[in-house]
Amino acid sequence: MYGLCDCNNFYASCERVFDPSLEGRPVIVLSNNDGCVIARSNEAKRLGIGMGEPYFKLSQTIRQHGVNVFSANFALYGDMSRRVMSLLSRIAPAIEVYSIDEAFLDLRGIDPKKLDRLGHTAADTVRRYTGIPVSIGIAPTKTLAKIASKLCKRYPKLDGCCYMYRQEDIEKVLRKYPIGDVWGVGARWERMLLRCGVATAWDFTQMPPEWVRRHMSLVGLRMWKELHAEACIDFENNHPAKKRIATTRSFDRPASTLDELHQRIAQYAAACAEKLRRQHGLCGEITVFIMTDRFKEGAPQCCRSRLVKLSVATSSTLEIVGHAVALLKSMFSSGFAYTRAGVILSDIRSDDASQQDLFDTADRTKHDRLMTAVDALNAGFGRHTVGIASEGREPFRMNRNHLSPKYTTDWEQIIRVKAH
Ligand SMILES: [Mg+2]
Repeated sequence: MYGLCDCNNFYASCERVFDPSLEGRPVIVLSNNDGCVIARSNEAKRLGIGMGEPYFKLSQTIRQHGVNVFSANFALYGDMSRRVMSLLSRIAPAIEVYSIDEAFLDLRGIDPKKLDRLGHTAADTVRRYTGIPVSIGIAPTKTLAKIASKLCKRYPKLDGCCYMYRQEDIEKVLRKYPIGDVWGVGARWERMLLRCGVATAWDFTQMPPEWVRRHMSLVGLRMWKELHAEACIDFENNHPAKKRIATTRSFDRPASTLDELHQRIAQYAAACAEKLRRQHGLCGEITVFIMTDRFKEGAPQCCRSRLVKLSVATSSTLEIVGHAVALLKSMFSSGFAYTRAGVILSDIRSDDASQQDLFDTADRTKHDRLMTAVDALNAGFGRHTVGIASEGREPFRMNRNHLSPKYTTDWEQIIRVKAH
């Protein structure tokens, strides 16, 4: 059996842990630069506030219903996530951290009669020690465990854990479960399946496997088998290295000159390169994009992106920034007020499997040594201690007008309790 533990409304719940007066009241969390909504408490969902909705469109609702607004506080969420994961790994034999607020639990080999109890204990323990409410689904496959955890959220009576294993229970659930909500079904497959009359997960299980294989490749077939309670998605103890590394930002104010964008792109590219080296990776592709504010009606719009494939994969900040800036220069047009840009590294492989190029002129060992020194300095003396000139001296400020304290990671900001 597999378990899936998902934290309910994770970012909003983190804010609530440190300010219990928010209990029962609508809470939303905004993306970097207070751009749009990235988390909502149940009360905020009931007000009809959508995921990804731009903040500026919500002022009326916020005022009218007294919605509590927070800027994303990733220092806090990251630390709370580590606490949740560490508790889970003490309860389950092994866990696979799937995202900041989700982990799979490896429950194979445990007496099935004990699983319901184990799930409820896990949910209680996490709630008691961290204050974060979670939904745990337990089922014969990862895909079914995901569905069970969703049910848990829909039915508070389940009290944090839904153990779904009997064939007739699974069938009952799948018959009502929209195909688009199944793990791994993206918008494209959802449209295709709906066109073919497949509306629920159950309908999908009734399609012949050959049809699934033909229309949705082996990935779709694997999903089909998983819904038939045949486990075929492996458990991964170590989260695999990221296949894609991105740094993208909305600006605090529009930028219209090449100089302004140049500095930003250089900073984002340097941040990506640092993340890449931390996972001992090399990248073979770099993408840069720039765009104007699509919500600003009447303003001239521009959205461009360009990709370069490298002949030799690299993790050097010097090379990655150089390529990123060259891409920017090749596509930049003046006359637009740009408000968002980003750098994305892809085609990522491990740095012990690098392929040499006969015509490569860069001195790789020298680059490696330099980058190791840069990373060590920045780790010891704080970020932006050493950088390359085109990044500029100062990191760009972000709008974070509703930021809560770093309660758990900074002694200066620790929570204060008054005793009377
Ligand atoms: Mg969640």
